[in-house]
Amino acid sequence: MSEFDLIRRHFTRPTPSAVLGVGDDAALFQVSAGNVLAVSSDMLVSGTHFFPDADPYWLGHKTLAVNLSDMAAMGANPRWATLAIALPSVDEAWLSAFSAGFFALAKAHHVELIGGDTTRGALNLCVTIFGEVPQNKALRRAGAQVGDEIWVSGCLGDAALALAHLQQRIALTEAEFAAVSPALHQPQPRVALGLALRGIANSALDISDGLLGDLAHILEASQVGATVELALIPVSETLRSLTPCALTPCPSPAGEGSHAALLQHCVLSGGDDYELCFTAPIHHHADVVHRARKVGVPVTRIGHIVAGQGCVVRDAAGKIITGGNNGYDHFK
Ligand code: ADP
Ligand code: MG
Repeated sequence: MSEFDLIRRHFTRPTPSAVLGVGDDAALFQVSAGNVLAVSSDMLVSGTHFFPDADPYWLGHKTLAVNLSDMAAMGANPRWATLAIALPSVDEAWLSAFSAGFFALAKAHHVELIGGDTTRGALNLCVTIFGEVPQNKALRRAGAQVGDEIWVSGCLGDAALALAHLQQRIALTEAEFAAVSPALHQPQPRVALGLALRGIANSALDISDGLLGDLAHILEASQVGATVELALIPVSETLRSLTPCALTPCPSPAGEGSHAALLQHCVLSGGDDYELCFTAPIHHHADVVHRARKVGVPVTRIGHIVAGQGCVVRDAAGKIITGGNNGYDHFK
């Protein structure tokens, strides 16, 4: 099959909201009046971001999901995307499943694939996404104010826990793994929540590299500090059932490399959650709860913004458990 047949068969779908989609030297689209473009690229590399034998349907889903998550974090409405893909070989079954997963999520979010590039090479997937956001309405990292409440959506730590299991750093039962693996393989980008937070959140980002590492970006950009309460951080039933001591006062401190330390690490520094972390003034508390409920996304207040710098995490007894934990950094 030629490269062009491959593109036609697997990556060409109708693009009614673009001026011109796949097939020319460039795609064309018109940004709606009063809006600016939000543009973001995210690359998934085999062996770094996913296992080479990852399920292709859910890999297609995740390739787009991580980009949608960036739109959510900006309060942008995702509209169009391009897909640059390097493939070691042409595997029809793999491509069909990959594109089915990609387009299922694209359809759910009314996103159109308008172009890309296809080449031979080690498996590598890069989406560039284009969204719209009304002028001056984007949710930036730099707007957090002293006194703001800090919120997160969903639950944290499940994706890292599933990865720890796959890497044999922890042994989950089959049922436990089944409960946490969707967080790793099938992330649900919080686009509706991002849109709902326009006008009330002072800052936002998506948690892709771990809560503390990502929150640190907000703190740096906003020149503020934070206090986070470990006991408030939302975790799934599965994770909670495994953490008798990490999320409640712990009689004996967890030793390095212990079970409890690993679980706490998943919650505070685990990557791949794709939940939103945002700050909003305390007088918007009820509005945050109301808007989140309206879009069906659970949100939880986990702390607040303070003057100074860095993030302090306290356990339920008020003891400081960490003063500066970082997220995943590819070059560290
Ligand atoms: P060019 O030779 O101008 O670089 P290409 O041969 O790379 O064009 O691509 C032909 C058309 O197919 C272009 O419109 C391009 O945007 C589109 N395209 C290529 N690869 C993909 C892909 N993986 N997904 C969607 N569109 C693609
Ligand atoms: Mg090209």
